[in-house]
Amino acid sequence: MNYRHIYHSGNFADVFKHCVLITLVRSLLKKDSPIFFLDTHAGIGKYDLTSELAQKTREYETGVARIYNLCSDIPAIQTYQNIIHATNAHSKTLRFYPGSPLIMRQLMRTQDHMILTELHQEDAKLLKRCFYHDKQVAVHLTNGYHGLKAFLPPKQRRGLILIDPPFEEKNEFEQIITGLQIALKRFPNGAYIIWYPIKAKDLIKIKNFYKKLKTILTTSKNIVNLELNSCGLVIINAPWQLELELKPVISWLGRTLAG
Ligand code: SAM
Repeated sequence: MNYRHIYHSGNFADVFKHCVLITLVRSLLKKDSPIFFLDTHAGIGKYDLTSELAQKTREYETGVARIYNLCSDIPAIQTYQNIIHATNAHSKTLRFYPGSPLIMRQLMRTQDHMILTELHQEDAKLLKRCFYHDKQVAVHLTNGYHGLKAFLPPKQRRGLILIDPPFEEKNEFEQIITGLQIALKRFPNGAYIIWYPIKAKDLIKIKNFYKKLKTILTTSKNIVNLELNSCGLVIINAPWQLELELKPVISWLGRTLAG
């Protein structure tokens, strides 16, 4: 495993994924009943953008840095910016970027719980440190796809599962389909959000991924597919009106981060 998310933290893909994730979580939080969160490929939780590794690529410059000081009247974007500012409350400028586990943790209520899985030994150690003594969060050093079997269904009736692999392996799309087949059997009503990169050389793979998705989603599920620049997201069992709520978010991101 060579992939380290620190090289990419806060880049365009992260901003896009995290703003959509926040829109989805906000929608689920409209009801009081407890929510179970599962982040299968969790990363390290908090990224220092001034670190040597982040500075090698400086990908955050065309992502979070572009919107750090902007204002927006879109609630999900405001929530995103509040979380970024809260993560940097003790530094004068943008220094830390919160990964998906920290973002979801900021949104969780006392009745909610979260399981995080991460396969990279060092990254899992850092992630554990982030949630040390947090009774609402459990961190496991394990394969996220195995977690889809081990941790589903949750005892809570409602859940959000984020599948955000590094796409280092050639068969990542196949692994997602196999994992989803297992997960949907065990927890058919969960909301699933899957991230994937859009590369010209992989367009056929992406087409096949969608074909296979359709075959495993036999019952009528509300599927939302979003694509912006080189990133794609699929949401399965999207809450009612999510698409409407996402429209201004996507168009704001498109306008603000383009170029
Ligand atoms: N979800 C994180 C976020 O938004 O902040 C970013 C995750 S990053 C794209 C992918 C992570 O998955 C990396 O930290 C990598 O070490 C980890 N990983 C790779 N293969 C894995 C697997 N089979 N199971 C769990 N984690 C894995």
